[in-house]
Amino acid sequence: MVSVMWYRRDLRLEDNIALAKAVEESEQLILVFHINPEQFLKNSINHDAFFASLAYFKKEIDRRGMHLQILYGDIKKSFSDLKKKIPDWTEVYFNKDERGFGKLRDDKMTDFFRDHEIAVHAYMDHYLHGAYEIKNNSGELYKVFTPYYNKWIQLEKPAPIKVTIDPDKVLKKALFKENEEKLEKMVNDSSLTMNYLPGTEQANKQLEFFIKEKMDKYNEARDYPFKDNTSRLSQYLRTGEISIRTVWSAVQKEVSSESQITFLKELCWRDFYHMVYAGNPDQKTQPIKKQFSNIQWDNNVEQFEKWKYGQTGYPIVDAAMRQMNQTGWMHNRLRMIVASFLTKDLLIDWRWGEEYFQKMLIDYDASSNIGGWQWAASTGTDAVPYFRIFNPTTQSEKYDPSGEFIRKYVTELKPVKTKYIHAPEKMSREEQVKANVIIGDNYPHPMVNHSDARKRAISIFEESKDIV
Ligand code: FAD
Repeated sequence: MVSVMWYRRDLRLEDNIALAKAVEESEQLILVFHINPEQFLKNSINHDAFFASLAYFKKEIDRRGMHLQILYGDIKKSFSDLKKKIPDWTEVYFNKDERGFGKLRDDKMTDFFRDHEIAVHAYMDHYLHGAYEIKNNSGELYKVFTPYYNKWIQLEKPAPIKVTIDPDKVLKKALFKENEEKLEKMVNDSSLTMNYLPGTEQANKQLEFFIKEKMDKYNEARDYPFKDNTSRLSQYLRTGEISIRTVWSAVQKEVSSESQITFLKELCWRDFYHMVYAGNPDQKTQPIKKQFSNIQWDNNVEQFEKWKYGQTGYPIVDAAMRQMNQTGWMHNRLRMIVASFLTKDLLIDWRWGEEYFQKMLIDYDASSNIGGWQWAASTGTDAVPYFRIFNPTTQSEKYDPSGEFIRKYVTELKPVKTKYIHAPEKMSREEQVKANVIIGDNYPHPMVNHSDARKRAISIFEESKDIV
């Protein structure tokens, strides 16, 4: 039996359900990745990072005496071409997508494979629990996190899966050399400037490091960006360079603690938002709370640019945006602060922010990003009321009390005394000159007055409910 293992966001040779099944059930195996140019985002760190991981994975497969075939372009044509080259191919294995673009692709391609007499073997691999596995007592998907979590935490979690792959079973000959050159060119042309470390080995090291050095402090330290005490596993979970089962099981080995419980709860958020997106397929463009479909967004392009480039005059917002622009990652607390600032203080549509994050994050995950943005904009599933609006200055005082994080990314504010670091515009002219930080000259005035902006947002959200 000749089978194809079709890779997507599961770029690993270990603990991979579809791969394990394919290896077990096939005589010959063809490892494949399909690149769809329709999904390309221009000038995107997300895109560049993913392809850097793919190229790394391809090399790793070569190193182990196998080969990853690269398909490129129209998806049906790509797989038809593969079938022409390998007429004996009869089975395809993949880890399925239950939401978004991936689900549409899987549905379309399942029909295509059936029409071509290729048997489909699709598995749920990306999450601890699939989107439709956990339902409430009425048999419906949950709408609120806490009851979902209470059920989720009771359920047994799948164990890591051992994969023993015999390289001699895998087709080594490159079938589409020209596509491999396209991938190489994409990686060479990439604008990825940060220290991006791809690969399963690196992901496993990161997991080990987190458990050994950071996990016991996770509960008290995870909310403080300057402590850098979170796992940093999101980029590897997103590409599938590490499996969620591996993460769960490694964390389980430690003695149960508050920190462990909090960390596992974060993994539950990942499952939760995946379930929410699967149940609300239009969630990338439509608010879940339909009463907020008609918010009169301000959508000021100039203000949006200032937010994007960290020039808002609110140091914590600026530091956060610069962290993402420079490193492709932003701390969770800061994601909440900047998303609240964009949607409430500036009244800019959450979809604009979601799209910008999509371009800039190395850990971009559609479900978590859309879920996070709708949460911040109060249009999502959660019971968060729309009048809960983050105050960027008090958040800054609480989560970056010494201004260490701000000074790291907003370097022009380095000389500012701690008492002014969260609101440097409060310095007198004399103090500004002394610190060489002239507000309105080398650092901007706050672009809005938070207290006025808050009142405006509440009234706009209230009005929008009446428009329904
Ligand atoms: P840790 O604190 O170590 O958490 C461990 C893992 O749990 C993470 O890797 C992630 O997989 C999961 N997790 C943690 N918090 C959340 C959460 N709130 N929602 C869903 N999963 C979570 N996460 C993404 O992976 N991709 C995104 O595109 C993304 N966009 C976001 C946008 C907004 C507006 C907000 C508020 C949050 C977003 N998150 C996103 C969630 C969260 O910020 C990141 O998962 C987290 O910062 C990643 O860093 P870490 O791996 O060190 O997290």
